Amino acid sequence: MLAWFSVLWVATVGLVNSKELPSNYHQLRGHQVWQVSDGMDDVVQGLEAEGVVDVLDHSRSRRSLRIAPQHQEYVHNLLKDNNMDYKIHIEELLSFFQEEESAEEESRLSRRSESREQQICTADSCPQPLTDEYMTLDQMEWYLSELTDSHPDLVDVSSIGKSVEGRDIWLVHIKAGKCREEKEGKRGRRAKRMARRSMETKTLWIEGGLHAREWISPAVALRLIDNFINDCSMSETNEVYIVPMSNPDGYKYTWTTDRMWRKNRAVISNSECKGVDLNRNWDYHWGVGASKSPCSEVYQGLSAFSEPETQALRDAMKKVGDIDLVLSLHSYGQVLMYPWGWTADPAPDTEAMKKMGDIFAGGARERHGSTYEVVNSAGGFYYASGATDDWAKGKLNSKYVYTLELRDGGKHGFKLPSDQILDAGNEVWDGIKRFLNALN
Ligand SMILES: [Zn+2]
Repeated sequence: MLAWFSVLWVATVGLVNSKELPSNYHQLRGHQVWQVSDGMDDVVQGLEAEGVVDVLDHSRSRRSLRIAPQHQEYVHNLLKDNNMDYKIHIEELLSFFQEEESAEEESRLSRRSESREQQICTADSCPQPLTDEYMTLDQMEWYLSELTDSHPDLVDVSSIGKSVEGRDIWLVHIKAGKCREEKEGKRGRRAKRMARRSMETKTLWIEGGLHAREWISPAVALRLIDNFINDCSMSETNEVYIVPMSNPDGYKYTWTTDRMWRKNRAVISNSECKGVDLNRNWDYHWGVGASKSPCSEVYQGLSAFSEPETQALRDAMKKVGDIDLVLSLHSYGQVLMYPWGWTADPAPDTEAMKKMGDIFAGGARERHGSTYEVVNSAGGFYYASGATDDWAKGKLNSKYVYTLELRDGGKHGFKLPSDQILDAGNEVWDGIKRFLNALN
């Protein structure tokens, strides 16, 4: 991974004018990003569990760590004691975001001046998922609420439960055998019978937005909903279940208060820190490589499935039952990971998951040349349990289970420019299509 931040950093804390940045960036003042090289993962994992560093990429050989000003000296000393080298990649995170924001604004303006057709999301309506900006939670909900009106037979949108703060978690079901009928009437019904005869119905589950700051994840999930609705060759023969926003409280919080928030917003008794890592809370070998400290970004919770968000997802997945493909969307790194995450031992169907993973990656590469590396979650060096994928494999016994780290490779990280939403969505769509065609 070539520097998240290959940009030159000359700014210092004093030069930052945080007034120009929205308030959800302000508490990142003084935060730095350090990169430590390969090896000594137990040291990094220990620091992460203590809650003094935020590991920004979990799957690569090099680690980027976000460190708040009050912890920098401590981490420096500890790395030195362990003979570990590090480089400061961002001296001032606020300046980095400031640059990214201005670049984003410039690109937005130039797109407008190209008089491209502007997408519309008003205060109370959103007919399509936006591709030229990230959607607020309200906009997503408007889009979802309009889906069933515009596709009453094909699409079903239901709440599978509530978040800690009482927000609905929405599940979109695009029903097999309904697409052609909706689009082509009687003629479609005939084509539908033909198609179903030649193909076996597969069931897919796609989870987006489990980690709040990974904005590209729900954006891609919404793109996929739109794609499945409009491409009958895929939705006619597959039962598709998509939860675009699994952590609505956290997502809302990244818009209002802290752009780098990852967890849910659970209040933890006897702690000044909030939030459980929803991708460390699932009940399969729970507690490996996660943290017992509520201040850690990978806090596992008081018990497995302690959180209403993971409970809702678990119950809805169990209700669907036989799921052929489970895909959990995260960012960043462009990696497709298969279980296990909790151990280096191979999971059942490892060879099949690898083979089909390569087929996905081949499809995803075609349009824009983006590479997605297919690797084992634990990678033999970084164990973590309690994620959706291990549970789906170990308890639900789904054959094909993956965590997909979306764009990018690290240049922008979580601050992926919004003009990449469409391309990121399209390449994942191409990968899924290739995958499903090969499976059928
Ligand atoms: Zn994630």
